[in-house]
Amino acid sequence: MFAAHQGQPENPSAPQRRSRRGPLALSVAALGCAAALGCLVSLLTATGDHGASAAGTASPRTVVSLTFDDGQATQYSVRSMLAAHRMHATFYVNSPRIGSDPYYMTWPQIRALYSGGNEIAGHSAHHLILTQLDPIEAKRQVCYDRNELLARGFPVTDFAYPFGAYNALVEAIVKACGYNSARTSGSLASRCRPCAERITPRDRYATRVVAFGSDPVRTIKRRIVKAERAGGGWAQIVFHQVCDGCAPGAISPRALRSLLDWLGRRAARGTVVKTVNKVIGGRVRAAVRGQALPAPPSGISTVRNASLERDANSDLTPDCFFTDSWGDQAFRWTRTRDAHTGDFAERVDVTKHLSGDNKLMAVQDLGACATTVTPDRQYTLKTRYKSSAPVYFVVFSRDDNWTWSYWKTSPAFPPSSSWTRASWTTPPIPHSLNGLSFGLTLAEKGSMTIDDVHATLAGVLPEARRCVVPRVVGRPLSRARRMLARAGCLSGRISRRFIPRGRKRVIAQRPRAGARGPAGARVNLVVAWPSR
Ligand SMILES: [Zn+2]
Repeated sequence: MFAAHQGQPENPSAPQRRSRRGPLALSVAALGCAAALGCLVSLLTATGDHGASAAGTASPRTVVSLTFDDGQATQYSVRSMLAAHRMHATFYVNSPRIGSDPYYMTWPQIRALYSGGNEIAGHSAHHLILTQLDPIEAKRQVCYDRNELLARGFPVTDFAYPFGAYNALVEAIVKACGYNSARTSGSLASRCRPCAERITPRDRYATRVVAFGSDPVRTIKRRIVKAERAGGGWAQIVFHQVCDGCAPGAISPRALRSLLDWLGRRAARGTVVKTVNKVIGGRVRAAVRGQALPAPPSGISTVRNASLERDANSDLTPDCFFTDSWGDQAFRWTRTRDAHTGDFAERVDVTKHLSGDNKLMAVQDLGACATTVTPDRQYTLKTRYKSSAPVYFVVFSRDDNWTWSYWKTSPAFPPSSSWTRASWTTPPIPHSLNGLSFGLTLAEKGSMTIDDVHATLAGVLPEARRCVVPRVVGRPLSRARRMLARAGCLSGRISRRFIPRGRKRVIAQRPRAGARGPAGARVNLVVAWPSR
């Protein structure tokens, strides 16, 4: 499943759209139904008529939902196929990707799917692993995407977790953003107890699936038959690409058509195809604003994990960054101890190069990692580097539809065998842009090592950092150290005081809380230590 979800190389020529985001608090019905008759039908039926079914059959015992994730362009061929079978499906899309790149469907295509009676549903803005984000960013990812779809006139009610990744907190966020249900990629197939989700799922924010487009069609059919024999229920199937071998896990148009033919014949046995919205029901809830974007940098950089020290998920890439390597080349990224500051830097070695480049970029998100920027301002991008070949900054920008795309390339910086600084000031930020993600880039054979990534408002002298001593008495030592670092201070001498059955906590500090000094001023601590 993961492979089918991986991000695609961004297209430098992707068109930029100006925002058309309207007053989100407006009634969704008013927004949506002005646009299309199909919407009216959908709204009327969004209230949960599970019992109704195709004319002439009894109440269905097995309901199949065909769900298509990620909005890839190859899915558009499904529109005519569904229409020919008088069936409707649910399309979970990441709104910033729609129309951003030929790899994805366009907004007119999404509109045509919707007008044909299909459901348009949410899949987050940037397809990140929501369980690994801070909750504020996770909420922006879910709410901003839903609001964009609402603003475009789609009455979105249902969500699918990117990569199927969810937990109790992420479920709560999806609910808080106004969704009525959320689909996982948890499979019911292996033990078949139950063989299908209940028509009224126990947890509407963690619904499970019975099969995937990557399964052979005979397997998908067998699982639906199993569900029918076990008394019915709700059988969701997850598809990604629809093509002849264009991607791992793709289903061929021929195989999909044969599945729809077969499903059409199952209607005689009370098995019908419905969108997720028709199964779950519930009203279309109003837009819910997520937390605003973080502030743009001033004289102080806002790049997170700037010294590349943290790797909380141990994926060997520093938190808040990703390595972007593409083209016909042989390359290897390593987390190296050869650092400019701290313990780690990031290095790439390219041993063969015909095309493409290699860069370490801030994660392209809604502000947890990417840098917020303000129109008309200019920003200075800085990093320390060593390289055996010329390097340059590549800058991506985020627009008012939250779409990330290529923006600018800086002039080249010369090779350097010792740590040196690359610094480049951007042109003024255009009015449609609100975020940047940038990285020093190596596009030939050789090596490049990077550390200390910063972005500041151009023309503003760096504000002198200061240490304002926090109160750390009562805190465990590790927490005290983090609090000091956050306040611009460092821990100094640490003395232990042995106390029977004591706990390792700070019991005294010097200087005391509230004292001020230059950045990096030392604070001496006395720590209670359990004596044996
Ligand atoms: Zn996906």
